Amino acid sequence: MWINGGAADRSGRQELVVVNPATEEAIDSVARGTAQDGEAAARAAADAFPEWKRLAPPRRAALLREVADKLAAGRGQLADLLVAEQGKPRRHNEEEIDAAVEAFAYYSGFAWHERGTMAPVESRFIDFVIREPVGPVACIVPWNFPIMLMAWMAAPALAAGNTVVVKPSEETPLATLRFACTVADHLPPGVFNVVTGLGSEIGEPLVTDPRIRHVAFTGSTATGLRIASLAAARMKRVTLELGGKDALIVGPDVDIDAAVEPVAHAALYNAGQCCTSAERIFVAQPIISPFLDGLVEHVRGIRLGDGSDESTGMGPLIRQEARRKVAQHVDEAVAAGAQLLAGGGPPSGLSRGWFYEPTVVVDAPPTSMLLRDETFGPVLPVASFDSVDDAIRQANDTPYGLSASVISTDPNFIKRCIDGLDVGNVYVNDPLTANTAASFGGTKMSGMGRELGVEGFEAFRESKRVHWMFER
Ligand code: NAD
Repeated sequence: MWINGGAADRSGRQELVVVNPATEEAIDSVARGTAQDGEAAARAAADAFPEWKRLAPPRRAALLREVADKLAAGRGQLADLLVAEQGKPRRHNEEEIDAAVEAFAYYSGFAWHERGTMAPVESRFIDFVIREPVGPVACIVPWNFPIMLMAWMAAPALAAGNTVVVKPSEETPLATLRFACTVADHLPPGVFNVVTGLGSEIGEPLVTDPRIRHVAFTGSTATGLRIASLAAARMKRVTLELGGKDALIVGPDVDIDAAVEPVAHAALYNAGQCCTSAERIFVAQPIISPFLDGLVEHVRGIRLGDGSDESTGMGPLIRQEARRKVAQHVDEAVAAGAQLLAGGGPPSGLSRGWFYEPTVVVDAPPTSMLLRDETFGPVLPVASFDSVDDAIRQANDTPYGLSASVISTDPNFIKRCIDGLDVGNVYVNDPLTANTAASFGGTKMSGMGRELGVEGFEAFRESKRVHWMFER
């Protein structure tokens, strides 16, 4: 763990083994942190907070810019580590690191963002609102994009003048620890801390620690609900980026050959383990048959393998239970009458690693787990729609509301989808594309609050209104 500017003493701690999901081999181990470790990290963050808050804005901006540069310089090594612990192809891990570099670079400028507003009053008063950092922030991170999602929370929190304690997933702590070592020369001790361990053992103590003033969480809806209830009981601020069951709508007007690739990309990037993966594909009835032919041909051509191999198109799932869940969703749908057009199980040629073939399914019952719950795997359940209203109705028929995609050239069709979709993000003709400068987040069970852009910065500031009378 990385606490107060140095590696924490590991003695007396049990260890957590980190496993490569492509080889099933142990690659390293980290400390299984305890509640006391969480407390030590929260204390370090609280002790470092007053000075970090006071630091001259240009200085804070310069330090965060240095962090971005250092992260960019270490891209190669960090990408190797991510391949080993997370599993996606190397070039996709490089893209992840680039996104994290961009977040630190973008938010470094925010360190000198306006500090508040003046309210109009009579001239013998001044009345203003100061925007201040909240205090120490816990950033709890999932395993699917360990470095990028850490940066989306930590960079704006630090820029706003908060200190942070990062809790990476127990599946993927290594790259985050490496990052902590590499930025140690740039951030004062206690400003950026990392604790490792299980959510129940060190995550919850962090959430409930009175020194932690805001919990930024990205992960599953089930854990988000638990964190929200713990935080509510303490009137603690939260931002929650949770699960999804995103729809992708393919309009009747599309060029089928051109539409297949973005649909497959939206569903299969990171083996379908993105919160914004397309998990339900709705295709206009007149084109569904040729579209399915093209899609099946495309997914059959995707090469599965170890992410360190240049020719790998798709890596494994993160762990065995994840593959079991994907198989359960597909098998249950098939048993209830769905038809498998491609995939449907582990690939035959790979004896090790938690791989699952890219899978295309039609006629899954609307009540099946495959269409109701987050699958988080490389599965494309495809159904048809007969009008734009029907497409929107089916897309919105889910408890989640993270994002949705539309592929079409018809502006009326696109506009009606944008207006009708009950989600936090809509992608038109370019699924899965984040923008550091534009807000990101979900509606309904997909979360609360927004990351990125100005909103993702303001989430880490609190207002203090000042009324000042000069004369009676
Ligand atoms: P998860 O909820 O199991 O774990 C996420 C993090 O929370 C881990 O660090 C874990 O150790 C910690 N945690 C678990 N229980 C905790 C508790 N009781 N208290 C405090 N911390 C606890 O999620 P995961 O399996 O790591 O990630 C996959 C999920 O994340 C999917 O549902 C996916 O959709 C979601 N996700 C959402 C977004 C988004 O921006 N909306 C982005 C990426 C992933």
